[in-house]
Amino acid sequence: MESNELFGSRKMWHHLDRIAQWQNGKLPYPVAIQMDVTNRCQHACPNCQCSVVVGKAKIELPVAIARRTITEFAECGVKSITFSGGGEPLLYGETPLLELMHLAHGCDMDVALVTNGNAMTDFQGFASVCRWIRYSIDAHDAESFTRMHGLKAFDKVMENLKSLCKKKYITTTVGVGILTKPEFGREWYMNCCRTFAEIEGLDYIQFRPVVHWDKQPAPSDEYQCIEEARNVYQIDKFFVVASEEKYSALNLPHFGRTYTRCHASFLHCTIGADACVYICCHGQGRPEYKLGDLHYASFADIWNGDLAASVRNTLNTLECLPACHLHGQNCQLQRLLKTPLHKNFI
Ligand code: SF4
Ligand code: SF4
Repeated sequence: MESNELFGSRKMWHHLDRIAQWQNGKLPYPVAIQMDVTNRCQHACPNCQCSVVVGKAKIELPVAIARRTITEFAECGVKSITFSGGGEPLLYGETPLLELMHLAHGCDMDVALVTNGNAMTDFQGFASVCRWIRYSIDAHDAESFTRMHGLKAFDKVMENLKSLCKKKYITTTVGVGILTKPEFGREWYMNCCRTFAEIEGLDYIQFRPVVHWDKQPAPSDEYQCIEEARNVYQIDKFFVVASEEKYSALNLPHFGRTYTRCHASFLHCTIGADACVYICCHGQGRPEYKLGDLHYASFADIWNGDLAASVRNTLNTLECLPACHLHGQNCQLQRLLKTPLHKNFI
């Protein structure tokens, strides 16, 4: 496995059937779904990317809607579901969460989990059903964890991570997510890699830039720092990964957006804990990104409905979060829209 096989936009080329449909003006069903089962979280991260929806008022995806929708995804040919946040998925309860995961798995969809790891107890249960699990740790020691997560839980989360790595199967990938900011400096990447490279069974560390809707990110050399850390710490069984596309985008005019419509929105969407379908994970809780409400309609009706079409046709991506989830895919599809000169001469 190469480090860039885990992340990056080129995976979309393994779904050429859907891309061909899109090129022919059709709307395929998505490959991947993010499902957020609760908006609650016991952590208080100052850089929480979902602060619009993570709140004190409890919102949980009703189990009946979750079950029904997972079955509908299977009928639509969806390939994977990532249980993530918008909130901490384990606070939904391990038993109901595992039940939904097994339902999806039984319907031939791949399952994954993104968690802060704090409340995990059934390590074997999650390891047995998930293709991959990522702990968002964003720190390399107790002090940096408290700063990044707003509470003291580094030792517990590390203990849980080690327990999960011991229980994981050969087919389960376990990783750690780390947020970065330009002002963190080179030491941040080295310290994080040093801490996690020592954990037996951990497959990768992933760096992601902190971005905000309302603040312009500063130009950065963060990707260069990541490459330096990779040169020191990446070994056969431990990968140092990051999206070069996203880090590069932060240094480009309009954050590298060569597109004004989210072409790639046919590949992915998000179900919020409020049972609404959003065009992407970043749009949760934002009415202009909402495609419909599963309380009142099926997933297929929402996906093919007028509101969803209007959102796709009018949303101006230049107003979206920089370096977003589908940035790389959108750049590639924008290129595909332009017919090159003499296209038949290869
Ligand atoms: S753990 Fe995740 S969902 Fe919870 S506050 Fe931190 S970033 Fe937000
Ligand atoms: S934030 Fe990105 S993925 Fe979401 S709608 Fe905008 S361009 Fe698409």
